[in-house]
Amino acid sequence: MIVDLRSDTVTKPTPGMLEAMWSAPVGDDVYGEDETVNTLETKLASMFGMEAGLFCPSGTMTNQIAIKCFTQPMDELIADETAHVYRYEGGGIAFNSAASVRLLNGDRGRLTANDIEPHVNPDNIHYPRTSLVVLENTVNRGGGSFYTISEIEPIAQLCKQKGLKLHLDGARLFNALVATGEHPKDYGRLFDGISICLSKGLGAPVGSVLLGSKETIKQARRVRKVFGGGMRQAGYLAAAGIYALDHQVERLKIDHEHARLLGDCLAEQAYVKSVMPVDTNIVIFELDVRLPADEFVVKMADNGVKCSTFGHQMVRFVTHLDIHEDQVAYTKNVLVDLT
Ligand SMILES: *Cc1c(COP(=O)(O)O)cnc(C)c1O
Repeated sequence: MIVDLRSDTVTKPTPGMLEAMWSAPVGDDVYGEDETVNTLETKLASMFGMEAGLFCPSGTMTNQIAIKCFTQPMDELIADETAHVYRYEGGGIAFNSAASVRLLNGDRGRLTANDIEPHVNPDNIHYPRTSLVVLENTVNRGGGSFYTISEIEPIAQLCKQKGLKLHLDGARLFNALVATGEHPKDYGRLFDGISICLSKGLGAPVGSVLLGSKETIKQARRVRKVFGGGMRQAGYLAAAGIYALDHQVERLKIDHEHARLLGDCLAEQAYVKSVMPVDTNIVIFELDVRLPADEFVVKMADNGVKCSTFGHQMVRFVTHLDIHEDQVAYTKNVLVDLT
């Protein structure tokens, strides 16, 4: 048996999704003529109560476009030190936006208004102008930790008061929504920009959508073209996203349950030093010094379970659409027998 727990990006389209892709009406989206892309953008925007959406090839692109739209060269943005926009987007903030980043040390990647406020620079020519706050929900390096709306509200208030834009890297926002039972519209009213990945837990092969005001998305469309992200008959891909939103959101709960089962099993193993709380579909754990993380990953792979190291002595498991109950049971057996 092969169990691939490296990432929730490894999923393949389901037969229903392939059928939806195959039969999608398409056109040239750079001319605005792809009706399936237009449907996806409108569908997500109205779900979140936002004015407009923009379909892009990746979450890196939606985040980088948002940062470009919400900053000017020489500005500064505030983010947690674990933030994907900072760590995993190849230095794109400096390259694309010529902006600097103030990194804070939140609780498993989650910031509060009190954390942020002292780092908003005063209006003084010595300091870069703080113009943007970026939050991530769920937090990848936080082990899938999530914010609730009541935790975000004071941050949104602070941003409004200080004249800062607020962007959400919501690569796994639907995992948070399913975990909290909160409504997408509550997010729409708090953020200036929201990036949502269709190719993570939702199971589409490609794509992310940036949501914002009409004005923001108009500018974002221009930036997407400059970044080389203007796609033509992209409706074949957008159809997968529409299918995912219609059929593969509620089932994220199953991924969360599977992650919890794996986390519980890991916590019982002598070679595991600690397991981060399992809140959604990510399990991050630290191995005892006697079992080097690289060795653990090789041993797991020898037994058909793929996973990745995630920092010194740390390993990450991610559950998703293509991990079924029997694979979870199998993985637990491998963990118990591993020595
Ligand atoms: C995966 C991910 C992204 C976007 O990644 P792409 O591979 O570019 O689609 C952004 N933020 C977070 C937190 C992610 O996990």
